[in-house]
Amino acid sequence: MEPSEPAPDAEPLPGTAAATGRRPVRCRMCGRPLTGTASRRTGLGPACDAKLHPAPPDIRTRRHEVEQDALPGT
Ligand SMILES: [Zn+2]
Repeated sequence: MEPSEPAPDAEPLPGTAAATGRRPVRCRMCGRPLTGTASRRTGLGPACDAKLHPAPPDIRTRRHEVEQDALPGT
């Protein structure tokens, strides 16, 4: 009888230490595991980072509104 071992081809779950080869980093706001490089560096998930640092209004947005012409032929 063979000992019950996990399948040799079992892949590590994404975001785990086995998959990344590094210590898991968790968001200091909500505690969710971080997978992105930027998120790991800041210690915040994308959602929580957006809450703390809301993106400033983009200047291009205003220009886009000005240049928003009606489609021809409609
Ligand atoms: Zn978070």
